[in-house]
Amino acid sequence: MGKNIQTHRFFCIKCSGEGIPLPRKQGHKHGRFHRKKLYCIHCKEEVNHIECRNDDEVYEFQIMFEEGNFLKELELVNND
Ligand SMILES: [Zn+2]
Repeated sequence: MGKNIQTHRFFCIKCSGEGIPLPRKQGHKHGRFHRKKLYCIHCKEEVNHIECRNDDEVYEFQIMFEEGNFLKELELVNND
């Protein structure tokens, strides 16, 4: 027990703040940067978060966020 569990980090696409990490079973395969709707403690609302499986992905997420890659996605969600 515990060996197959990896904790993944989640980052809000609106403010890039870090959410609550979630344990994931290894082999639980999602593509890179899987979206998950979580409550953001910084935005105080439910926002899509990006799942990061390692430090490299966290770094890439931060670059993507700075380049404004998630702005369009946020607009689409707001127009629902
Ligand atoms: Zn946020």
